[in-house]
Amino acid sequence: LKLDEAAADYWKFQEAIEFNKTLVISSVIEGFGNLPSGAWARSPDNALVIPVNAAQSKVSALLIVGLNPHRPLDEKYSSFFQLIADQLGSSLANVHAYEEARKRAEALVEIDRAKTAFFNNISHEFRTPLTLMLGPLEELLAGDTSAFSTKQRADLETTLRNANRLLKLVNTLLDFSRIEAKKAQAQYFPVDLANVTTDLAGSFRSAIEHAGMKLEVDCRPLTETAYVDRDMWEKIVLNLLSNAFKYTLKGSISVSLREENNKAVLKVKDTGIGIPAEELPHMFERFHRVKQSGGRSFEGTGIGLSLVRELVLLHEGTITVESEAGKGSTFTVS
Ligand code: ADP
Repeated sequence: LKLDEAAADYWKFQEAIEFNKTLVISSVIEGFGNLPSGAWARSPDNALVIPVNAAQSKVSALLIVGLNPHRPLDEKYSSFFQLIADQLGSSLANVHAYEEARKRAEALVEIDRAKTAFFNNISHEFRTPLTLMLGPLEELLAGDTSAFSTKQRADLETTLRNANRLLKLVNTLLDFSRIEAKKAQAQYFPVDLANVTTDLAGSFRSAIEHAGMKLEVDCRPLTETAYVDRDMWEKIVLNLLSNAFKYTLKGSISVSLREENNKAVLKVKDTGIGIPAEELPHMFERFHRVKQSGGRSFEGTGIGLSLVRELVLLHEGTITVESEAGKGSTFTVS
């Protein structure tokens, strides 16, 4: 707002703001004629210009009050006006604080949205070149490799394994950003959960037995049809199983499915390294990893379990973990 310069001069605004000081303006009748007077007939002739401080010693408004012509401006009278100004100041401070908080919240939402869009775009862009690298690599290793030395072959295999790992990561990020952008629509179809889960668990059998461990699968048919998104269920089961395999060096891994209180309950249990009690509350946080050794590999990003949790939530389900360090862990999805 641009103030009329003459008015600003008249009320000595600049002085009041600069020195943050209450000023008395006299002879206002001369400038404005008679002013509203209240209970008595005489118009005020003097006025106060009082700086209103919202934040500490920062003038955010000026309060102008006409003075009662029948009262001297003593300390009591001026402190009455100061009280009004202070009250206004603290109300203004509240308003500012509220506005700031709202702006911060809006900025955070905006950053989050931008980040999701960025993840989404970049994961897409990463996938194409990765796929184009993987194809020839796989072909190379599947064909006649007699021309390669052992070292060359091992290098190629490392490259292939890591390119695959990268692709998996990119896909997980893409899943994540879809969920965050609320673009992930679960497609609920009637699924024979016991059968599907048994099949999924079976795909780990050779790896688990190869490592000298046992795989126990016990999935009982449910009395009612379960409606789930098959792809998502697959991701849930495979993620939990691959963690169990990754963090278990001996013993067994068991997968079970039961009906409990009208819910399908999946348990993936291992006899692995377990999780320290203080880590349990953070297991489903994104990028959270437990700082401990003893797993089968150190590869990982801490994104698998939080994705599983999001997928479970899309099905209105719950996921919990019980574990004891050194003894093993059980993940339960209802
Ligand atoms: P990642 O395995 O890529 O690090 P996850 O989100 O799948 O990410 O797991 C997060 C962390 O939880 C892992 O780093 C690991 O320390 C711990 N964890 C997950 N599953 C198990 C398990 N079955 N036994 C022991 N620790 C586990």
